[in-house]
Amino acid sequence: MPGTAVVGLQFGDEGKGKIVDVLAEEANLVVRFNGGANAGHTVQVGAEKFAFRLLPSGIIRPKVLNVIGNGVAVDPGQLLEEVDDLRKRGYAVDNLRISDRAHVVMPWHKALDALEEEAKGGLAAETTRRGIGPVFEDKVGRWGIRMCDLLDNVVLRRKLESIVPAKQKVATALGGTETFAIDRVVSQYREHGERLREFVADTSLVVNDALKRGKTVLFEGAQGTLLCVDHGLYPYGTSSACVAGAATVGAGVGPQAIGRVVGVVKAFTSRVGAGPFPTQIEDKTAEYLRERGGGEYGTVTRRPRRIGWLDMVMLRHSARVNGLTDLAVTKIDVLGGLETVKAAKAYKRFGKRVPEFPADSFALADCKPVYEEFDGWEDLPAPEWRRIARKGSRSLPKNGRTYLEWISRTLEVPFAFVSVGQGREDTIDLRKQSQSRGSQARRRRSPAKSPRRPGSPRRASR
Ligand code: GDP
Repeated sequence: MPGTAVVGLQFGDEGKGKIVDVLAEEANLVVRFNGGANAGHTVQVGAEKFAFRLLPSGIIRPKVLNVIGNGVAVDPGQLLEEVDDLRKRGYAVDNLRISDRAHVVMPWHKALDALEEEAKGGLAAETTRRGIGPVFEDKVGRWGIRMCDLLDNVVLRRKLESIVPAKQKVATALGGTETFAIDRVVSQYREHGERLREFVADTSLVVNDALKRGKTVLFEGAQGTLLCVDHGLYPYGTSSACVAGAATVGAGVGPQAIGRVVGVVKAFTSRVGAGPFPTQIEDKTAEYLRERGGGEYGTVTRRPRRIGWLDMVMLRHSARVNGLTDLAVTKIDVLGGLETVKAAKAYKRFGKRVPEFPADSFALADCKPVYEEFDGWEDLPAPEWRRIARKGSRSLPKNGRTYLEWISRTLEVPFAFVSVGQGREDTIDLRKQSQSRGSQARRRRSPAKSPRRPGSPRRASR
C-alpha cells in the first residue's frame, strides 16, 4: 500500500507536527525525510507539549516506528538531548531508527552558518544558525560525514584528516576564529556514535519492507514549500527540498511509494526570516494574530513571526509542485474575532496582473496583492471550538466555512482535515465524516451518490 506524505505549503510552522500526530494514530511508520534541527514540530497531547526538532512526530506513539531518513541532517548532540528528554518523561524511545546514510552536523557547519550569513549581506536568509545549510553544501560537495562514519574510529579519523584542514581554511578566510582539533572532534563524535548505535540502520530497507508488507507509512516533511531549495523563495529559504517528491530521495523509496499528499496550510501566513512577503500585515491585526496564534514565535529561535493574509498565488504554486491530493487547514480558530478576513487571489506588478508565483525574489518584492475579502467569524472560547471539532465541519461558523470552501475551490483540492485548536481533539477529520455520512446515506437506501467532502470543489478536482 502506498504511503502518505505530509508537507507544509507555506513557510513552515503550519502545524504539520499536529497533523502527522493525528494521522500517526493509523500509521505503522513515520519517516522524516528532509531538513534538520532547524525545524520545530509541536505536538500537544492533553496538557503535555512536545517540541521536536529531529525526532519524527510519531515518536510518542510507542507502536509506531519512527525513522530519520537519509535526507535529514542529523545533529547528534541535539538528537541525544531529545531522546534523553523523552526518556525522562517516561518514553522508552525504542521505536526509533536513523539512516546510516544521513549526514551529520559537525562543529564547522555551525561556525560556517554564522560566517556565511555575515558574508551574504542582503542575501542572508536569517537562518537558525544550526549549521544546516553548510551540511547540505558539504553533502553535495562530497565533504560530508555520515551516521555510518560515527560508528568506526578508523574511518572517522581518516575522513576528518582530509576534511578538517580544508574546512579550517574556509572558516578562517571568512573571519572565523574557532579551531577544529581533530582529536577532540573524533572523541566527541565517536561518543555520540556509540550512544546512537542502537538506532542506526539501513532505513531504506526498513521502509521498503514495511511498504511491501502493506504497512501504513507516513512521510513527514520539515519546513514548508516556500522554503524549499528548489521550489521555494530562493535564496530566502532552507537548503533541502521540502516538497513531497523529496520524500522518495530522502527516505530511499520509489515514487510509487507515495499515494497521497496532504498539504498543511495555516489559515493565514506567517514566517520568520528575511525575504519579500506580499501579504504581510503591517497594522495591529498582525499583533492580534501573533498573540492569539500562541505559537507565532519560531519554535527553534523564538523570533516573532512576520504575519500576513493567506496568499493563494503562493498556495497554487505549492499545490502544483507537491501534487497535492488533500488539504489540512490549521488555526481557523485564531482568525476568529476579526471583522474581515482577506486572502490574496492574484498579484499586480507595476499595474499588470502576475499570473503565477514568480521565480525571482526581486520581482516578488514588487508584487502587490489583489485581495478577496470575507466576513469574519466569532471569537469562540477553546471549549467551544473543541465542541465544534467533535460535531464536525457543519458546526463551523458559517463565514469560516465559506472561507474554507473558497480555499478548496481555488486550489482544486479537497479538505482532509480542519484544525481549530492545538490539541489532537481539536481536529475535524473530514475523511471519517464523509465515510460515516456515506454509510448513513447507504443505510437510508438513498440513490448511490459519491459523498462530497464539505469544502471540496463541486467540479472534478484533477
Ligand atoms: P510545524 O513545524 O508545521 O509542525 O508547526 P509548529 O509546531 O512549529 O507550529 C505550529 C503551532 O501551532 C504549534 O504550537 C501548534 O500546537 C499550533 N497549532 C497547530 N494547529 C493549530 C490550530 O488549529 N489552532 C491553534 N490555535 N494552534 C494550532
